[in-house]
Amino acid sequence: MSCISVRSAWTAAAWGMLLLPALPLLAQDPAPPQEASQPADQDAADKPTEPETTLQLADRLRLTGRYAEAIKHYDQATGAAAAIGKSRALWETGEWTAAAETLKKLPPESADLPEVAAEQARQAFDQGDYPAARQAVERALKANPQQLWARWVQAELYRVSGQADAADKEYAWFLEYSRQARRMENPEDLHAVALAAAQVARWRRNSRLFSQLVNDYYPTALKKEANYWPAALESGRLFLEKYNETAALKEFDAALQINPNSAPAYAAKAQLALENYDLEAAQIALGQALQINPKLVAAMQSQADLHMLNFRTQEAIDVLKQALKTNPLDEATRGRLAAAYGALDGLSDPPSPRMAKVIAQAVEQNPECGQFYFHLAGALENQRRYPAAALYYAEAHQRLPRMIGPRGRLGLMYMRLGDEAQAGPLLTEAFAADPFNVRIKNTLAVLDLLQNYAVLETEHFILRFDRTHDELLARYAARYLEEDVYPDITAKLGYEPPEKSLFEIFSRSGRTTGHGWFSARMVGLPYVHTVGACAGKMVAIASPGDLPKPYNWAHVLKHEFTHVVNLQQTNFNIPHWFTEALAVLYENQPRPTAWLEVLAKRAADDDLFTLETINFGFARPKNGDDWTLAYCQAELYAEYMTATYGDDAPAKMLAAYAANQNTRQAILHCFKVEQEEFERGYRLFVNTELARFEPTSTTTLRDIPTLQKLLQENPDDAQATAEMAYAYLQRDEKPEARKLALAAQTLETNQPLAAYVLARIYLSIGDAAQAVKLLEAALQADPPQQNALALLAALRMKARHWAAAEQLYLRGQKSHPHPDRWLKALTALYLRSGEEEKLRGVLTSLAQIQGDSASVALKLAQLSAKRQEYEAARRWSQQAMQIDIQSAEAHALLAGALVGLEKYADAIEEFETALELDPERSDWRFALADACVQAGDKAKAKATLQALLKRDASYPGAEVLLESLEP
Ligand SMILES: [Zn+2]
Repeated sequence: MSCISVRSAWTAAAWGMLLLPALPLLAQDPAPPQEASQPADQDAADKPTEPETTLQLADRLRLTGRYAEAIKHYDQATGAAAAIGKSRALWETGEWTAAAETLKKLPPESADLPEVAAEQARQAFDQGDYPAARQAVERALKANPQQLWARWVQAELYRVSGQADAADKEYAWFLEYSRQARRMENPEDLHAVALAAAQVARWRRNSRLFSQLVNDYYPTALKKEANYWPAALESGRLFLEKYNETAALKEFDAALQINPNSAPAYAAKAQLALENYDLEAAQIALGQALQINPKLVAAMQSQADLHMLNFRTQEAIDVLKQALKTNPLDEATRGRLAAAYGALDGLSDPPSPRMAKVIAQAVEQNPECGQFYFHLAGALENQRRYPAAALYYAEAHQRLPRMIGPRGRLGLMYMRLGDEAQAGPLLTEAFAADPFNVRIKNTLAVLDLLQNYAVLETEHFILRFDRTHDELLARYAARYLEEDVYPDITAKLGYEPPEKSLFEIFSRSGRTTGHGWFSARMVGLPYVHTVGACAGKMVAIASPGDLPKPYNWAHVLKHEFTHVVNLQQTNFNIPHWFTEALAVLYENQPRPTAWLEVLAKRAADDDLFTLETINFGFARPKNGDDWTLAYCQAELYAEYMTATYGDDAPAKMLAAYAANQNTRQAILHCFKVEQEEFERGYRLFVNTELARFEPTSTTTLRDIPTLQKLLQENPDDAQATAEMAYAYLQRDEKPEARKLALAAQTLETNQPLAAYVLARIYLSIGDAAQAVKLLEAALQADPPQQNALALLAALRMKARHWAAAEQLYLRGQKSHPHPDRWLKALTALYLRSGEEEKLRGVLTSLAQIQGDSASVALKLAQLSAKRQEYEAARRWSQQAMQIDIQSAEAHALLAGALVGLEKYADAIEEFETALELDPERSDWRFALADACVQAGDKAKAKATLQALLKRDASYPGAEVLLESLEP
């Protein structure tokens, strides 16, 4: 994504994050609807309290996460219920063998109870022992055909073994059951029904059911048993499924409030954190989950996801293999494993042998393995391997068309790949089935918006934009892309994308800003903190006119198109740092001083990125410095390899990535050196770069408490006294400031900062002469105090003593180097003194470091035009336009320069644009007529002059020129 970041101003609320609407309670429950905020144990409170039995106590301890105590109390109770409770407590803490033993040890009359068999079925299913699970289900259902958990496992067994139709019927049976059952008292029963209902909701596209689950089923379960935390957990999972993260987190926390040792609740929180790329929070939650239950497959899966996001694919594979020991058949584990192999071995067709093997196993186990492909695709999506992800989402959909997820995700993937025509119907369908999915909802809103966007198609590009806001920008952007960017970048990278690249420009519509739409376009959510982004085949940018701070759109277009080309040429196997390195390098701009400052600071702290860590700087910067440093260092890596291994070094690296090598292999292959040696050379290169850079000297003033302490220790410290005076002046406490400044001057004659404070006080009472006297005396010292110097210079300027002011600023520039402070001051000075040559000099320096300032470029264009330096005038006016395309002045200046260069046709077009933007400028209209005459277009010249005379009958020379054109 682009390196130009902006602070985004939207909020989640502005994006219409969905809250599930409340629907009436289920028919069988006559109780009136309860407010969600009401205490969950309302019912219990109304009942007369009976003494708690040992079993109830043990259950309560288990549900509140006091597992060891619970087990002790279960041991004191007898019967199947106690054994089941104990077994579950053991199960939830990863003691699987002991959990199974507990049930096995029951006497025969209890062992055959349907509840016991059902529990055994659940345990066997979670271990992937489907034959044992099936057998247990049969035993349970023989004794009680309505044993809910046995029925649930039976449905799940159908699902994972290629019998989706049978599974679907089974899930639906639960709804029928709940309609007939008068009232379900047991939260466990409600839980089983709710799980099945959620599957019906997904598979039969019944979104109303989702509402009922989170508004009715699960709250009811919690009402029946206040400690039944799984109800909160399941609610949260449903919210997370719909990307309603706020509601999800609330539910997960509610579950943990009841049971602080709930491993699955921690795992769910980790999953939520991963969605937000908050890897630290995810790692903490996973640590907690796995400490409580080392066998929790969901936690291991998230751990693998986390490793993958940390570019540690091998570690992900290790964890997934561990997870397969716990449950060898889990499709979500297998899908991730296939993706990890693909990421390591390369996403070839056919897949690598070990990836192919995992796929074959999954398909053999379950020909309808939509889940498997869905997770395979999801893991690849996380690796930004979009085309492959799209392929496997499509496969997931084909294998199990009932699944709700793949269609929407495939639609989102097509959006990223710029295929809006394919994305639209998929997303519409997904939304009808799943109206609470925020990402899909937002993306459909983007598609709606795009429907009304204009299209501009050129040989290699398609631009879509809002005609009312961005027509001019689109026209110039298209030309810039075709004429400058395309030939330049495709030649440098040695690759031309086979299809036209899509560029979309978003501007405000409704309550949403251009940046908000841009962000929704890229990720479906308002997260993206840049102004431009690329997903490989398409680019979106936020309209520059729609942002609080302007930016150079031409730089951004070139940057993003570099991504388009090198992502495609490597089949998306290019690490983040290298695609950014080339994108920044080919922008061909001087390195910003701010970048070098961060580089210097981090080098001094020995805290630079390496090739092992630099990707984190892009993917998950800890702060703004990380983000800046990553771009700066990436560009330096590219510069280093070019300087050391030749101009074709980047091309070689690209070829290596395209051949599916990783960075270490690529460096060895291309440059015949180990990565460590490459890094050592790079560090020396960075040091050379830093040696040429003189960091800004910053004298930071200390705060009042620090100064007070200093002065207590040493009351004769003149500098500290003066700083104290300055601090009081800043607080507008002049009498105290004056007292302290005088004291400082007594301690040190002409103390410069004290002189500055006193001068400011004199100025406030209108005594400029006294102020000047004080400052002059203070500035005898070397180096001069910055504030005093700047103040005296300003006073000189006010008195029109240009030379004196200039001398002071130049002195400042020499003694206190700063990227732009003195340049700006000198610009202001020369603008007022009218010294144009000097002005041109400082503005040229300023333009180098302020590539985003339209006014600087415009002024330079004016100065160049005045001196008839038309080539320079053209360059500067074009730069001004690249920041502010709506600047009529810039278009007129360009037109004038083009006339000077005898490019009349182009000049006419620019004059016309300028007049579109500002029709009142008669001088431009006259110049347009003149350009038409030069171009030999008499008819147009005449029409223009007639139009001019209509507006301004006495415009000098217009009449004469018109007459000269008459035959
Ligand atoms: Zn970028």
